[in-house]
Amino acid sequence: MYKVCKFGGSSLANSEQFKRVKDIVLSDDDRHIVVVSAVGKSNKTDNKVTDLLYLIYQHHKYHVDCTPLFNQVKKKYLDIQNELDISIDLEEEFDELKERLDNDELTEEELVSRGEYFSAKLMAAYLGFDFVDAKELINFDYEGKVVEEETNECIEKAVAVHDYFVVPGFYGSYPNYKICLFSRGGSDVTGSYMAKGAQADLYENFTDVSGFYMADPRIVDNPRHISQISFNELRELAYMGASVLHEETILPLAEQDIPLVILNTNHPEEGGTLIKKTPSARRHLITGITGKKGFTAFTFVKDKSADKLDVLLKVLALFKDFHIPVEHVPTSIDSFCVVVEKKTMEEKYYDLVSELKKIPNIISIDEDEDIALLAVVGGNMVKKTGSSGRVLSVFGEEHINIKLIDQGLEEFNIIIGISNANFDRSIRALYNRFAHEKVDEVK
Ligand code: ASP
Repeated sequence: MYKVCKFGGSSLANSEQFKRVKDIVLSDDDRHIVVVSAVGKSNKTDNKVTDLLYLIYQHHKYHVDCTPLFNQVKKKYLDIQNELDISIDLEEEFDELKERLDNDELTEEELVSRGEYFSAKLMAAYLGFDFVDAKELINFDYEGKVVEEETNECIEKAVAVHDYFVVPGFYGSYPNYKICLFSRGGSDVTGSYMAKGAQADLYENFTDVSGFYMADPRIVDNPRHISQISFNELRELAYMGASVLHEETILPLAEQDIPLVILNTNHPEEGGTLIKKTPSARRHLITGITGKKGFTAFTFVKDKSADKLDVLLKVLALFKDFHIPVEHVPTSIDSFCVVVEKKTMEEKYYDLVSELKKIPNIISIDEDEDIALLAVVGGNMVKKTGSSGRVLSVFGEEHINIKLIDQGLEEFNIIIGISNANFDRSIRALYNRFAHEKVDEVK
C-alpha cells in the first residue's frame, strides 16, 4: 500500500499536536508522503498563522511596522522546534525572510506560503523524512490552474527519489517559478494532487473531526455519522455547504478512483468517513442533508411568441458576462427562473438588473430575495420509485412552503428552495424523517 496523508492546521497547532502526528505517521510504514498545513489555532483566541501572514503583508504594504506580528509567527515555530528539540536552522531562515520582506522582495503569495513551508521543514526533520518543496512539484499556469501533466511528472520523479517525504500544502509555482497559492484551505487539494501523481492507494486527510455527518451538528443534535460516501455525493454536499474539505479536493482523486478517508488526528480510533467512487453496501436511503441560505431567484416571463431558448441564452450570457455563477434554472412554458447566490452579485446588482431589462421579449422580471436551498443527497435514491415523493411529503406535513424543486436525471440529489426562515426547521424535519430510513423500506 502507498498512502498520502495530510494534516490540517489544527493538527499542527503546537508541539503536542506535532507529537500526535508523528505517532500516527510512524505507526504505519505505508504512509510515504505527508502534506502539512500552516500552524493553526491552539485555542479559541489564538490566530491561524496564514491569517497572520496575510495581515503582516497588509502592514508592510501600508508601511505600518509588522515586526511584532512577524515575531509572533516566528515564535510559534521556534517554540515547537525548541520543545521538540528539532535541530534545523529555522531562525536564520525567518531572519532572511524578514529581510526580504523589508526590502520589498516578497510577493504576498510567497509570504503567505511560508506558513506551510516552515511547518513542512519542521515536520520533515521531526519525522526523519526528506523535505520536498511544493514549488518543485505543483505547477500552475498564469491563471492559477494546476498544469496536471507537468505536476504528475514532477511528483512521479520525487516519488522515485524519496522513499518518505514531507511536502508543504497550499502552494506551488507559476511558470516563472514564483509562488502561486491555491484558495484558502487548499492544502487538501495539494494532498489530492500528490495522491494522484504518486498513484497512491489511499489519501488520508487528518483533521479535527471524524469525517462527515448526515446533517450539520449545529442544527441537529448528534447527527448520524456517515461511514462511506461516493465522490459524487460528497461533491454535492460540499458544494451546498458541508465544509470539511476544500471543494476542489475530489476531482483529482475521482479521475483515478483513489479513495479518500477523513480522520480525526485526536481520535483516529473513532474511524472516519471513507469516500470512494462506489461505496460498498450502504443501506440508508439518504446519505446527507445540507444547504445554504441567501439566494435570489429571478423569474423572467417572456412574450408568448418569442423563442424561449433565445431569451434564456441572452439572460444566461449576461450573468456570465457579470461573472455571477448561476446555480439553478427551473423553466416552464413562458417563464424561467434563474437562481443565484446573493453575495455573488453585491455591487454588480444594479448594473445587472438594468442590462437584464434591456433584453428584448421579456415581459416581466420578478425577484424573490428570500430563498434558502436545501440539498438532499443519496446514491440510494437512484432508480428508487417514490424517493422524491417521500422527501417532499415532509414539507407538506410540516406546513413548509416549497418555492422551487430541482432534481437532475442522475437522481441522487434533490434541491429544494424554501424561505430562509424555514431553513433550520426543514433540515431537522428531514433529518428526523430519514436519519434511520433504510432503502429496502421504500416500496
Ligand atoms: N493554511 C491555508 C489556510 O489557512 C491552507 C490550508 O490550511 O489548507 O487557508
